Amino acid sequence: MIGIVVVSHSPRLAQAAVDLAVEMVGADGPAIAIAAGAGDGVIGTDAFKVAEAIAEVSSPEGVLVMMDLGSAVMSAEMALEFSDDPDVPVRLSSGPFVEGLMAAVVRAAGGATLDEVDREARGALRAKQSHLGDEDPAGPPADSGPAAEHAIEVTLLNPDGLHARPVSMLVTALSVFEATVTVANLRTGKPPVTASSPTALLTVDARKGDTISVAAAGRQAVEALEAVSDLVGKGFGELGADSARAHEPVPSLSQPPARSSSGAPSSGPLGVSPGLAVGPIVRMPEKPDEPGPAAALPVSEREAAAEQIVAAAASVARALRDKASRVSGAARGILEATALMAADPGLIDAAVSRVTLQGDTPERAVWAAVGEVADVFTQQGGLLAERIPDLHDVRDRVVSELLGRPAPGLPDRVEPYVLVARDLAPADTALIDPTVCRAIVTVEGGPTSHTAILARALGLPAVVAARDAMELPEGSVVIVDGSTGEIVVDPSGDQVARAEEQHSRVITFDGTGRTRDGHRVQLLANVASPDSVAAAIEANAEGVGLFRTEFCFLDHAEAPGLDEQVAAYRQVFAGFPGKKVTIRTLDAGADKPLAFVTAADEVNPALGIRGYRTAWQRPELLDTQLQAIAAAAAAENAVVGVMAPMIATVDESVDFAARCAAHGLRNVGVMIETPAAAITAGPILERVDFASLGTNDLAQYTMAADRLMGELAVLNDPWQPAVLRMIREACEAGLAAGKPVGVCGEAAADPMLAAILVGLGATSLSMSPRALGGVAEFLRGVTLTRCRDAAIAAVAAGSAGAARSAAALLLEPTPA
Ligand code: PEP
Ligand code: MG
Repeated sequence: MIGIVVVSHSPRLAQAAVDLAVEMVGADGPAIAIAAGAGDGVIGTDAFKVAEAIAEVSSPEGVLVMMDLGSAVMSAEMALEFSDDPDVPVRLSSGPFVEGLMAAVVRAAGGATLDEVDREARGALRAKQSHLGDEDPAGPPADSGPAAEHAIEVTLLNPDGLHARPVSMLVTALSVFEATVTVANLRTGKPPVTASSPTALLTVDARKGDTISVAAAGRQAVEALEAVSDLVGKGFGELGADSARAHEPVPSLSQPPARSSSGAPSSGPLGVSPGLAVGPIVRMPEKPDEPGPAAALPVSEREAAAEQIVAAAASVARALRDKASRVSGAARGILEATALMAADPGLIDAAVSRVTLQGDTPERAVWAAVGEVADVFTQQGGLLAERIPDLHDVRDRVVSELLGRPAPGLPDRVEPYVLVARDLAPADTALIDPTVCRAIVTVEGGPTSHTAILARALGLPAVVAARDAMELPEGSVVIVDGSTGEIVVDPSGDQVARAEEQHSRVITFDGTGRTRDGHRVQLLANVASPDSVAAAIEANAEGVGLFRTEFCFLDHAEAPGLDEQVAAYRQVFAGFPGKKVTIRTLDAGADKPLAFVTAADEVNPALGIRGYRTAWQRPELLDTQLQAIAAAAAAENAVVGVMAPMIATVDESVDFAARCAAHGLRNVGVMIETPAAAITAGPILERVDFASLGTNDLAQYTMAADRLMGELAVLNDPWQPAVLRMIREACEAGLAAGKPVGVCGEAAADPMLAAILVGLGATSLSMSPRALGGVAEFLRGVTLTRCRDAAIAAVAAGSAGAARSAAALLLEPTPA
């Protein structure tokens, strides 16, 4: 593959152009070296740097040099005099800097020769010229290719048609075949172009729904056409889940779990956070999608369109200021700052220029203008990068306003309501005010999704997997039963009175967990941040069984520093002097991405770099965190234990224990939340002091069912006998090793399941503070022998339902 050198006056410009080009080809692209700036932040070019860059990417296939302007060209010419290796042909390209670089990178990635890549780079303005009607009178290089032996017609399914990424995929895919392929768009009737040229392909202007004719000649013509058909059929990987779901029938809320024709159970609404609540429905408006490209606005309409942007931004700023005036403290400051952003003249001008100069629609102009500012924020990093979510919030609000839709995000209410949403991100859920929000109902989510976990922490009844919840009329009164999943629309007066009476019933925990016959089971609280400690103390928790540290840093663009971490951890430790606090190291990834550690493009995040695996790539993050935990523990009097998430091998446990020991941390454990860890719990427990069962993930991985998918909630059930067997395996290993094995997944918060866990040998149970009273009360009603008998029956059951029924029969309360 040839190498590419990028010469620019500005290192930032060069880096941005390279980033853009690399985006097209990912890790499989050519070697690229940058020679930019004249050193010490001075804008300019330097021939020596260019020569070094050429040497860095030199390859017998050659090196192509892309330059911006003026002295860049001269420096590159001079550099050629220093780089006189006869075996490395070096070519200076006259192609345009940005477009040429992108075309060159894509073509080089496909293995093209230096000549071919240079030709592509020089012709790289064709797509733009064709789009703007500024074509060379000779026209783009139409290429009918050699007489086509085979041809197919395929219709584009992906939302944006043959834009840059699909084009790059097509060129790369075809580069491996011995075939000459051409593409023509039947809608435009323009002559075919060669499929080996990304820029020529872009001129085809093929959009969603267009049929393209693809012709191929050569020894592997058929294979090449099959590859095209496959890529087009799969929508170049851009077909969202939504389009697939749009065709599914939606059962009514009251419908019991149905069976599909294949016999697979599908979930109905599921209660995931107990309690009853009554209130009028408020739907959470959804965020707008990125506005698609549209024909340029006629010049006569542009002024009015620009005015719409000004008016929409002003209205959003006004609404945010209004909201700010109704709150106090940090929330007020944030809202005022966001209002300022919405009224930012720079942002508004940038959007307005896009409308007046390019004819963009107002919503597309706003989207793009905000995108540009967000890119700058990203490059600057630090505090600026942390403001990107606010910037996106402003964008979504202004675009919604332009489209005449309600502002997205959590509704701004002062009267009690029941929140209905398609899905809730952890950040949304964390902002819910439980004094006005009475209950949560979501279309997506399973019993162990973070919506469920946070709803429990807030003490709000919650129902997930309510597939047609978004159809419920706004404002209609409902009773939500967070235990059974039942949603009663327009209830009678009696039903409302009963629900309200139950709602006010609170079971308190006296601070000592034990069974009726005195078997001690520590009942602990799960906390997500220093803010949630108060609820745990108030609920008389015996300590903290799981401190989910990642929740402290959900909004951080960069890794938290040592001091910030020490301060956060100390607040939690300080709440429990002399008591147990088990802190978990960062469990980032999958459903809890952290901007500073989680890759945005993982194909399968739940099976990817998450939990302890992040330490493989960023060991310094773990070390800083362990240092902070050690410092915080030394400064407070809690009995601190530290554990690692998502352990899958004995080696990882050994590694974690060693890292903890290096920081002087002694009470070290691991989470058992993969089947691998459950079945090797024996050897793992030889290396660490304790284990804690994360039943949420253990269910997800045992049942191979995404814990966030409402449709799979029925599999994601800790009562599944397969999951119970995994738990038994780990508990038995704990008993054999004489080491404690607790449970900190949501299973611990289900009173009857808590008794089963005790029967299986769990030594402590950790749950949201609100659940402590109910679990404590249930355990006080049963003996250890009963728990063991019920556990044996539940494990032997044939299904989750049968396990529940068996347990209910054996654990039925008997008079004391
Ligand atoms: C679990 O998986 O059960 C667990 C406690 O961890 P989290 O829910 O944070 O993934
Ligand atoms: Mg987990």
